[in-house]
Amino acid sequence: MNTALNDATNGVLNETTNTVHKHETGASEFETECGLIHHVAPDNLCRVSVERAVTSESTDRCGRCFPGAGGY
Ligand SMILES: [Zn+2]
Repeated sequence: MNTALNDATNGVLNETTNTVHKHETGASEFETECGLIHHVAPDNLCRVSVERAVTSESTDRCGRCFPGAGGY
């Protein structure tokens, strides 16, 4: 397993809501820690860097993947 690649794409972005989730380490491609986006079509999801995504003002953090974020 390439840990450097995992570090670069350790988040999952739901493009329909512009919400960033944490990728569940070791799980399948779009599995998140909160499990909330199982029902979202893969076409609407993309792997992103959490570090990069959370600094974007156009995206929200999942309140369950990021305790204290205050969003859903
Ligand atoms: Zn989440």
